[in-house]
Amino acid sequence: MRHCCKFKPDDIYYLKETNLYIYRMFTIGFCPICGKPVAELYRVRFDGIPERICESGIEANELMSKISEDILYSMKQLNYKKFKSKPFGWKYGVNKSVKRNGRADLIKQYACDFYGNKELVKTL
Ligand SMILES: [Zn+2]
Repeated sequence: MRHCCKFKPDDIYYLKETNLYIYRMFTIGFCPICGKPVAELYRVRFDGIPERICESGIEANELMSKISEDILYSMKQLNYKKFKSKPFGWKYGVNKSVKRNGRADLIKQYACDFYGNKELVKTL
């Protein structure tokens, strides 16, 4: 991957095929110089034309969340099956509001990963 310098991706995701793209691969990593998350989507169109989309910072997170539903598996997932119950790799936050009778809602904050693992971080 490339940002301020060339570096190795932290994880590689393989994505589902679509009508438009016959091959899709997504890599994420953190730039060792500026520390920003960097995401790169490589895909091959049905007519054989390859495309590469590279984003960093907030845009990298947005790109990740856009493709997250299409992930089949990742390199880390294959290598770290034993950590199945705890979120690992690229995490994102989810807030869940829990209804309480007659009182303000309870907000539960979870850290989630893209494999369906989640962990309660705090309750507000
Ligand atoms: Zn950088």
